[in-house]
Amino acid sequence: MAEPRPHFFNLTRPELQDLVKSYGKEKFRSHQLFQWVYTKGVSDFEQMTNLSKEFRRDLPQLLDISNLEMVSHLKSVDGTRKFLFKLANGDTIESVLIPSEDRRTLCVSSEVGCNMACQFCFTAKQKLKKRLTAGEIVLQFLMVQKALPAEERISNVVFMGMGEPLDNPENVFKAIDILHDQVGLNFSRKRITVSTSGLVPQIDLIANSGARLAVSLNATTNHLRDKIMPINRKYPLEVLLQACKDYYKKTKESITFEYVLLKGVNDSTDDAKRIHKLTRGLECKINLIPFNEHPEADFKRPNGDEVHQFQRVLMDLGMHVLIRRTMGRDIYAACGQLRTLYEKHPGKMSQEEMRA
Ligand code: SF4
Repeated sequence: MAEPRPHFFNLTRPELQDLVKSYGKEKFRSHQLFQWVYTKGVSDFEQMTNLSKEFRRDLPQLLDISNLEMVSHLKSVDGTRKFLFKLANGDTIESVLIPSEDRRTLCVSSEVGCNMACQFCFTAKQKLKKRLTAGEIVLQFLMVQKALPAEERISNVVFMGMGEPLDNPENVFKAIDILHDQVGLNFSRKRITVSTSGLVPQIDLIANSGARLAVSLNATTNHLRDKIMPINRKYPLEVLLQACKDYYKKTKESITFEYVLLKGVNDSTDDAKRIHKLTRGLECKINLIPFNEHPEADFKRPNGDEVHQFQRVLMDLGMHVLIRRTMGRDIYAACGQLRTLYEKHPGKMSQEEMRA
């Protein structure tokens, strides 16, 4: 059986350079290919007019340059856009574009399903099926950018979609290298955030990559965190926080702690005080995320007053705290929800049908 062709979007420029060289072509051809695809948005080899006719004719046999299939693109009344993509193997993944005053943040998936089993997470109900390739991550960026009006550019990327990015480090950090390549998209590493549930040994990879660290904290005692985030049994809070301190020492970059507020579970005044104690000595920001209730949820969302009271305690302790608004409620905001709906009703994907 013939070897499968390498996929263009899986390759860093040095890898493409080696490949092009192995076909007997000059190294700079990889530079030209990168420019055509990433800066000019051309993925039809035939249109790459500074390549020889012969090379253009051979390229489709040498490289696979296929895209993901966009199954759905839903736009919320608040401007959030949610995308569902089908991979070559038929699995589906979600990407979400979240607009705010000064940025457009793309939340990308790194896996199909997830094995971390966080109790409050909808994606966790779908066990890990596949770790995405670097190309499948890069294509989420490219295809969302292409679907936006010309004047709207993605300004930030967060690895907070489906999956634990540090459970797929090779492909996640390769995708970051591709997004950052100066001959191509030249996307700043500082505008990329990798969020982890607490895979401590891999946190240093984030420091080395130049991306920002976010930690999904969600509990302030090992007793509770062991229950709602099983990764804590392996890497308890004191070990996780030490890794954060090491990251900060190495990079001097501020860390984001995400804290999903679960009514009556982790939203007491004592919890707020413990957040302050745990993060002492770190430059950090706390993102409070009132739990996004969904049909299969075992937890409740605290009301607005309770959320503000929690924020107030942290602010009085001098912390930088934001409350994340729930965006895209009308388009299945909980991560993994759209994908589940599609798998139950694969024919129903227009905006109107989905709302029906
Ligand atoms: S919160 Fe993140 S790490 Fe935890 S199960 Fe969900 S996708 Fe996985």
